[in-house]
Amino acid sequence: MTLSAALSFDIKAVDVASNARRGTLQTGHGRVETPTFMAVGTRATVTGLTPADLADIGAQVVLGNTYHLMLRPGPELFRRVGGIHAFMGWSGPVLTDSGGYQIFSLAEDRTLSERGARFRSYTDQRMHMLSPERSIEMQTAIGSDIMMVLDVCVDSRSDEATLRDAMERTHRWAKRSLDARTNPAQALFAIVQGGVRRELRKESAGVLTAMPFDGFAIGGLAVGDARAEREDMTHFSAELLPRDRPRYLMGVGTPADLLEAIAAGVDMFDCILPTHLAWQGTAFTGTGRVRLTRGPNAQADVPLDAECTCSTCRLYSRAYLHHLFKCSEPLGPRLVSLHNLHHYHALMAEARRAIEAGTYAAFAKRKLEAIDRHEHSTKRFGADVAVAAS
Ligand SMILES: [Zn+2]
Repeated sequence: MTLSAALSFDIKAVDVASNARRGTLQTGHGRVETPTFMAVGTRATVTGLTPADLADIGAQVVLGNTYHLMLRPGPELFRRVGGIHAFMGWSGPVLTDSGGYQIFSLAEDRTLSERGARFRSYTDQRMHMLSPERSIEMQTAIGSDIMMVLDVCVDSRSDEATLRDAMERTHRWAKRSLDARTNPAQALFAIVQGGVRRELRKESAGVLTAMPFDGFAIGGLAVGDARAEREDMTHFSAELLPRDRPRYLMGVGTPADLLEAIAAGVDMFDCILPTHLAWQGTAFTGTGRVRLTRGPNAQADVPLDAECTCSTCRLYSRAYLHHLFKCSEPLGPRLVSLHNLHHYHALMAEARRAIEAGTYAAFAKRKLEAIDRHEHSTKRFGADVAVAAS
């Protein structure tokens, strides 16, 4: 269906034995096949990779961050060059996060009020105000295809009064964000809050879905919660959202997290994990995580992942990648970033095919079992890694 001048979303198939959906999202800068993983390009770059690299690995959407881009290079630059697409040389869709999470996690000398968040800039030490209106103004200057409302992000396991206050302010800020939108060609998504409390999540979804947003995100997870709670809240929240709008789970997670959330009916994801871990020398493979800096890899004259079709796995050995990391050569993180993002995008492509074939539930079960089998501990991927956008 057509949601606004900015976006249309069509669901092409729904899985038989789960809530997984196969959709197409049409934006002002092209089509996005869902479920999709969005590469995190916080500062108008996916660190170390060019837009051509991103296109090669099948990336469809790049995610930028309003908080960081507001502080540097600032809105005037984006207005002058005509937006982020021209600035970074990426012609595909861009989604911008509003800065709510960064205000919560990064800002120094921060004071929160009904008006917004006042904080000190890490670039020039000056005080700035990020309000719902200011966030929309900045995202308008950036020219993203999908904007996010500024939300109030707190630890998901805070006491009920804290969670309720944050949620209710998020609702008031969502309304102010809608009122502040000036460019009908840019879509706007709301963010459901409420921590790990079902009654609050239900109330939040009820209030926000009564307003004319183009899509809905599930926010505030991967901030203090454990994996089981996160999965439960994802399933619960996704079912509260309208079937005809895209659903976006923010800041989550591992390949196993994504497989679970797709089964819950989530369409869009972002996470710093594949690029963040690449810079530490850790790769995701079909047979679990590989830490390239470990000693045995020094003599491993084999591809990083024999099943993978990415350029890193086609052209280089584990021994070479190990060597690059040992010498602190920047090519090391770059090649592993390419592989890790390829791994995530290939998983999404497989998931889309499985949903089309009506076999997603069986596909996800098989994949999750393989992930579990290759991990040494009983926990998938070794830990309840809670990583959100930085
Ligand atoms: Zn690869």
